Amino acid sequence: MTSEQIDQLAKLLEQVFGFTSFRPGQLEIIETILAKQNVLAVMPTGAGKSLCYQLPAIYSEQKTIIVSPLVALMDDQVSSLSQLGVPVSKIHSGVSRQENVEQWKRFASNECNILYLSPERLMQTRMIDALKRFPIGLFVVDEAHCISKWGAGFRPDYENLTNLKSFFPDAKFAAFTATADKTTRSDIAKNLTNGDCSVFVSGFDRPNLSLKVFPKQNLKSNILHFLSSKKNESGIVYCLSRKDTDQLSLFLHSKGFNAIPYHAGKTPEYRLDAQNRFMTEEAAVMVATVAFGMGIDKPDIRYVVHASMPGSVEAFYQEIGRAGRDGAPAETIMYYGLQDMVSRQRMIFEGNGSEQHKILEYKRLEALIGYCETPACRRLALLSYFDETAVSCGNCDNCIQPPRVEDYSNIAKQIISAIKQTGQYFGMAHIIDVARGAETEKIKARSHNSLKIFGIARAQSKQVLQSVIRQLIAGNALKVNLEKFGALEIADRGVNILQSNEQFMAKVISKKTPIVSVNAETHKPSKAQSNSSVLVELKKLRLALARERSVPAFVIFSDKTLAQMAEELPITENQFLAINGVGNKKLGEFYHQFREVIEKFKVPRL
Ligand code: ADP
Ligand code: MG
Ligand code: ZN
Repeated sequence: MTSEQIDQLAKLLEQVFGFTSFRPGQLEIIETILAKQNVLAVMPTGAGKSLCYQLPAIYSEQKTIIVSPLVALMDDQVSSLSQLGVPVSKIHSGVSRQENVEQWKRFASNECNILYLSPERLMQTRMIDALKRFPIGLFVVDEAHCISKWGAGFRPDYENLTNLKSFFPDAKFAAFTATADKTTRSDIAKNLTNGDCSVFVSGFDRPNLSLKVFPKQNLKSNILHFLSSKKNESGIVYCLSRKDTDQLSLFLHSKGFNAIPYHAGKTPEYRLDAQNRFMTEEAAVMVATVAFGMGIDKPDIRYVVHASMPGSVEAFYQEIGRAGRDGAPAETIMYYGLQDMVSRQRMIFEGNGSEQHKILEYKRLEALIGYCETPACRRLALLSYFDETAVSCGNCDNCIQPPRVEDYSNIAKQIISAIKQTGQYFGMAHIIDVARGAETEKIKARSHNSLKIFGIARAQSKQVLQSVIRQLIAGNALKVNLEKFGALEIADRGVNILQSNEQFMAKVISKKTPIVSVNAETHKPSKAQSNSSVLVELKKLRLALARERSVPAFVIFSDKTLAQMAEELPITENQFLAINGVGNKKLGEFYHQFREVIEKFKVPRL
């Protein structure tokens, strides 16, 4: 591509989207598409995949079909583009027949070149025949992992897209996804392009997400405490079960939060409505099971809380990845306890996958336990799982407040002996009772009160013993045997600790159960936060404008754009254009109203 062409792209980026620079990876992908090569791009959530296919469509003016699995996703992208002044059509089953006919006419009459289509509409014979009459330059397949049987979200109607290449031999394909391991990638490439495509895989690091893990104690009050610092922001709280979801949502609602429960047990109408509320209302807290999230394109989710542990590092990464897609800071917190760990193991154990599959799932879960228990930088742990190296991040709890480690060999030995002397037959609760010398019925019935180690760890609190056991499991010294109903068993390293005096270092465990939350002092407010009253006013205006137009607030301006306005207080048109996210169309439409708000806050310098 010539430097003139690149300049032209940069100009469009600025004028249409209001962005001053490309994000990593974007330009290479755009160039490859414009060079008429097939592309498969794997980029983390929030990396800016949409722009990679929207900009080439605008630049080249060739007819572009964009396939997306979710109606809500299409609606958001279409309203965002319309807001930017880009002509665009959409056809899907969420729209009336008459409206679909209108949309088609616009596309067919060359009034617009971009058509969003649901996969089932696209693959109807009538649609294929109609499209064949046009020179379709590019088919874009968003969320392309849905095409692969190996992918996490396989969809049968995506599988049919495999036939597109024979129907449109002259068209090119561009596939985008945030999650695809090697197998899935080659599957997508084979299905869409017979393997003839350039593959781009960009990094997994999301430096704007802070990472924190806390022990699961006083869960409700801890979540409440955390959310109190997020009163004006939207986020997701993930729970394990439908029941937990409903209960926590009710609790938060009673405390005055705009909490919305969401899980697969609700009707489709309810879920659609809940999703719309989350997209459009201010400070919405989605309390949900994993049923919620796929394809949620809300860029200003400011936190993701896991009230319970996810099943794997991949799931965890995907779920926290929904926060902070606009690049502005967002927080992630996981509350983690042994009970969750055991439930997760049980879910794998009782699942109906093959043995091989189960072993893989256990490994993925173990990796996540390792993430929870590590005393080192969490981002390092996460990225090394995806085979990326990094330096300590300074934005996780362990970096901000490095945990002290201490020699816990003695307590470890006491626990391992208790497990050994009771025959490796009991779960954590009983082992702790034996070690602490509790006179329970179960202990009396089995005469465990006559063992040598009975009460050997009497001086320790339950929490300390729980934490040491978790760390022993994470450190491969103990195993949980689900065939024996969660009995703790001693692994090789445990034998070494007990018999060969191998040292066991562990994170220092505090004796109390504090209400833990973000430490205000270690968390400096950004400049925009200190400028919060103007920001509040700007957000109000944005909300009013969004309501008028029935679009989500971020379609007007992103959080990041508003934060920059609050910081720089632009007044002239040129100052406005210098704000990231303000292009010509939005300047024309919103300049006066936003200027009015800002002027009220602009104090003349003396
Ligand atoms: P993805 O589909 O990869 O998850 P999106 O395409 O939804 O991500 O983009 C996420 C956010 O990033 C959107 O708010 C989008 O406007 C913004 N964005 C994309 N490209 C840029 C860029 N070059 N500069 C600034 N913001 C961008
Ligand atoms: Mg996307
Ligand atoms: Zn870190």
